[in-house]
Amino acid sequence: MNPLAERIAAAIEREGPISIAQFMTMCLYDAEHGAYAARAPIGANGDYITAPEVSQTFGEMCGLWIVQTWHNQGRPQNPLIVELGPGRGTLMKDALRAIRAAAPKFLPQAEVKLVEISPAFKEMQTKTLAEASANIAWVSRFDDIVVDRPVYLIANEFFDCLPIRQYVKTATGWCEKVVAVENGALALALAKLPLPPALPGADVAPEGAVLETCSAAEAVIEDIARTVVGNGGAALLFDYGYDAPSFKDSLQAVARHKHADALSAPGASDLSAHVDFAALARAAEKGGAAVFGPRGQGDLLVDLGIEVRVQKLAFANPNQAKSIVAGVRRLIDPKEMGDLFRAIALVPPGSPNPPGFD
Ligand code: SAH
Repeated sequence: MNPLAERIAAAIEREGPISIAQFMTMCLYDAEHGAYAARAPIGANGDYITAPEVSQTFGEMCGLWIVQTWHNQGRPQNPLIVELGPGRGTLMKDALRAIRAAAPKFLPQAEVKLVEISPAFKEMQTKTLAEASANIAWVSRFDDIVVDRPVYLIANEFFDCLPIRQYVKTATGWCEKVVAVENGALALALAKLPLPPALPGADVAPEGAVLETCSAAEAVIEDIARTVVGNGGAALLFDYGYDAPSFKDSLQAVARHKHADALSAPGASDLSAHVDFAALARAAEKGGAAVFGPRGQGDLLVDLGIEVRVQKLAFANPNQAKSIVAGVRRLIDPKEMGDLFRAIALVPPGSPNPPGFD
């Protein structure tokens, strides 16, 4: 067992089996050995690659979406840009460049706040954005931001790493999946006590179905919705997931671009799960927002004009034209990231429909 596994096993021996959410929290955020503590696992040399690392046009489209939404809402003064989980800082760098080009009056009056929990990622973002000449500050939680102005919030692959709980349907009802210690090693088990189903469709799901809930994601999006409704602005959230619960086990551990076993080496792989967009939309509506989508990332990016942008970029950089075009294909092709990755947008009720969600 690695040191984190030993610590988790000791806690289980002391206090009993832990939920998948508690296990994920320890694997990802443990200050010493967690996946996000010391390492920043995105990129060709990391565990996995994300849309802004595949093509600069992804961040550019996000920046243009913010500018267009701001225009549609009557160009409110002193906007605040927020990004949740900015990774290497690439999305924000590309977005700020596009915003500066499209709306020269936006950034001089704007503030940027980055919500980042990982010291390693924060250091990387500081470097990436050193020359962005924007007013940028960091916080570690969304609710640390005191919002007193219209907020334009963006996030890519933030919700998929928030801890989920899993329940399995047995002959006697839904039982929570837990991490226990068996024969000296961490192992999955089912809690004995059945629980009531909590999700639409759960009562008719077959035996063996897996139900996943993510209360952390629901709490954050409800808070975002209230903030957008109270102050004006909008949110655009990309992630991978499903429009309605699929009742399958979607938890995955990835290390160095391959599937890994989280139980045998906690902290050494990235853990994530599919995002339940229906649950997110319900939570955002509870917060009072008008919710648009989800729709596939590919269709959205095409409607926002990514194909025009990529042509220009390829024309201006003929030596890299092939890889530039291939990067955008990967983002929009339904067989690659175009369909599994989905987006929803939140605006205050009565605000014009957000770009790409007409
Ligand atoms: N958006 C980036 C990175 C996605 S990875 C991209 O598309 O490349 C997830 C990001 O969210 C990382 O920066 C990670 O450190 C951050 N993160 C994960 N959980 C978090 C939490 N609970 N609070 C704040 N940031 C978190």
